[in-house]
Amino acid sequence: MNAEIIAIGSELLTPDRVDTNSLYLTQKLNEAGFEVRLKTVVGDNREDIQGLLRAALQRSRLIVLCGGLGPTEDDLTRVATAQALGRRLTLNGEVLEGLQRRFAVRGYTMAKINERQAEVIEGAEVLANPAGTAPGMWIEANGAALVLLPGPPRELKAMFEAAVFPRAARMAGGRSMATRTIGIQGWTESEVDTRIAPIYTSFSEVQTTILAVKGVILLRMQQWVGPGEIPSQLDDLAGRIQAALSDTIYSTSGEALESVVGSMLRKSGRSLALAESCTGGMIGAAITRVPGSSEYFRGGIVCYSNEVKISQCRVPPALLERHGAVSAEVAEALALGVRQALGSSIGLAVTGIAGPGGGTDPKPVGLVYVGVADECRCVISRRILPGDRETVRELAATIALGRLRGFLMSENARA
Ligand code: AMP
Ligand code: MG
Repeated sequence: MNAEIIAIGSELLTPDRVDTNSLYLTQKLNEAGFEVRLKTVVGDNREDIQGLLRAALQRSRLIVLCGGLGPTEDDLTRVATAQALGRRLTLNGEVLEGLQRRFAVRGYTMAKINERQAEVIEGAEVLANPAGTAPGMWIEANGAALVLLPGPPRELKAMFEAAVFPRAARMAGGRSMATRTIGIQGWTESEVDTRIAPIYTSFSEVQTTILAVKGVILLRMQQWVGPGEIPSQLDDLAGRIQAALSDTIYSTSGEALESVVGSMLRKSGRSLALAESCTGGMIGAAITRVPGSSEYFRGGIVCYSNEVKISQCRVPPALLERHGAVSAEVAEALALGVRQALGSSIGLAVTGIAGPGGGTDPKPVGLVYVGVADECRCVISRRILPGDRETVRELAATIALGRLRGFLMSENARA
């Protein structure tokens, strides 16, 4: 059950725009039972689109095209597909009326060029577009199915859900892809792989990929299953990986680290305050990305200057003078101070040198201290992070969330 995606639009071949539709389509096609073997981005060029379509018809059962269904000269998907299939393109009265009504309702007269959007390829089923003007098409030809979808992501998604998914799933006969995503924090990609490669390589039916993103490792496992079949190898593998990696796993359901930490805070009834120096609010942004975070997040102070560290986060000036802003002592003082200043149960602080300047031999670029404090203890950790300024900041934010998780876990263990 091979599928392929063809994203059409010259803007997708510039440095400004990226084809995001194919990411959505890949996920949905997998769910519907299709393996995406190929995806292509092509400009608004009739010969190029036709060439791709002819090749696609030789190799794929399901071909999904997106974009190029608009009313303007550069919207060539209808014409190119009709020509590649050797079929006629004719004005469909019903679609035309629908378009005219849509314009009339909004108080506009439809421009002549919009009539193009009512042209339908011979033998095609028209797919309604409740979110826009361009209708889609489902066409069966040479044992394959071709789907034409509009480019705007909102329209494409609505049409796919309503009209394409059920047809595709029927074609695939109930086959589907089962997936698990395990989130890991605290180990490097190679440390993770060393431990688990001997395990996952012995599961022949599961495809496993390891991806390092912004300080966490995402382990994605997938297995094809037939109708009513249970992904037993996948379940088995996930269980063995959980046992091998234990506490470094923060999630087995694809949940983000900030959301996991948020649930832990909510369950323990504790609140959080942040003192962020080199991360400049990135941890606060992550925490507040989670709906309902107001239940446990009191707030954060971006304490970039020494003055703010002293006046807002209650760091004793002598400490800054003696040890410098990037030090274990100041990380501790920040965590304790912000906790008191904002009246939270837990204070989390980060101070570091993001670079590119400001590094010294004893304190190189990438040096980061994280402090976590509650009413009875304060845990400080030190890391030297690799990468450019943005990477150091992103990694520092993730590591801070990881340390907070560790702190809350040890708290649970003590309780
Ligand atoms: P079109 O259907 O070619 O007129 O595309 C209309 C708009 O949809 C474009 O201007 C893009 O903003 C958006 N679009 C088209 N193709 C894609 C794609 N593959 N991924 C994300 N957005 C797209
Ligand atoms: Mg276009």
